[in-house]
Amino acid sequence: CGIVAYVGQQEALPIVIKGLKRLEYRGYDSAGVALIDKNGLSVYKKKGKVSKLEAHLKEAGDLKSTIGIGHTRWATHGEPNDSNAHPHYSSSEKIAIIHNGIIENYEVLKKDLISKGYSFQSETDTEVLVKFIEDIYVNNSISLEEALRLALHQVVGAYAIVLINKEEPGTLIAARKGSPLVIGVGEDEFFLASDATPIIEYTNKVVYLDDYEIAVIRNNRLQVKTIQNVETNPYINKLEMEL
Ligand code: GLU
Repeated sequence: CGIVAYVGQQEALPIVIKGLKRLEYRGYDSAGVALIDKNGLSVYKKKGKVSKLEAHLKEAGDLKSTIGIGHTRWATHGEPNDSNAHPHYSSSEKIAIIHNGIIENYEVLKKDLISKGYSFQSETDTEVLVKFIEDIYVNNSISLEEALRLALHQVVGAYAIVLINKEEPGTLIAARKGSPLVIGVGEDEFFLASDATPIIEYTNKVVYLDDYEIAVIRNNRLQVKTIQNVETNPYINKLEMEL
């Protein structure tokens, strides 16, 4: 339902949490975040309000990270509970995903993954998607964005997704088809969100990702490609600031 992601010089968690609160108006049943810090990839998620997630995060202590993703879920596949909440992560526990939308062919993909030995901790279509991408990633010597690109050729449905990978702690990868995704371009920092509401307080420069496009933010640079692997020139829109 709601997506927020950050990469830059600042601490990601407060920005992601604030963003999730800005998206609360969309309605949701659970919330979660994933960060990459000195201990690797950490995922925190809770059924209920963002404030419940915050209480849970307080118990976790000091979570310093300059990259983070956050999600408010409106359940479509699997009841609202902690394990069905996003982010979901790969079997390797290295890749985390947040997803808005529905993967319509998740049952076929899931069956295939189970036959390859994958197991699942949730009933969601989203966990199937991250493990499907993981399977392509680990079986071919390719980048995660290339694995995502290949995976999306076989995915039926609607999505706005954001991925982080423990092995590339400064990189955000995003894609969309049918669900909106906005990229905020700041000074040495980038934001991703399902609408501009969480972004406008930081920057008025935004790129609207198009259907069938994959965005990679790495080394303080945004690159956009179509799923046909054609690089596109992202158009930077100027938002009217309402401060
Ligand atoms: N289909 C996904 C799920 O049920 C995502 C729902 C959403 O857009 O929040 O977990």
